[in-house]
Amino acid sequence: MKDHSERDLLRELFPDTAREEYGDGPTERTTLGLYPVPDGRLALVQGDQLAELEPLERAGKAAFMCDLCQVTRSRDEVNVYRVGVAARRYLYLTLCTNTPACQQRAGAARLSALADRVFPIEHA
Ligand SMILES: [Zn+2]
Repeated sequence: MKDHSERDLLRELFPDTAREEYGDGPTERTTLGLYPVPDGRLALVQGDQLAELEPLERAGKAAFMCDLCQVTRSRDEVNVYRVGVAARRYLYLTLCTNTPACQQRAGAARLSALADRVFPIEHA
């Protein structure tokens, strides 16, 4: 994805966030957030970077630790997501299905640490 298409996607999915982030020109404000997308994906936004987290089928383990809030959850409460971080290279993340609650538990520092694992994405 090119930068402009990521911005277009962000505008489409999260117009309020896009307005804040890209509004009338460059801004020094750093946006950081994980946003559920209606089709089941998650969007991780850090500044002007956007990663799409694609849900995979749930594995059969009894419990998982969420990579964001780092709380151990039952498998009904988490999903495994795949995010492309470079050509043919994926990062797999286990995340709570209740994204807002998860983000609240995690706090900004853990969210930032998660974003640092994902970004920058090397586009082929
Ligand atoms: Zn969590």
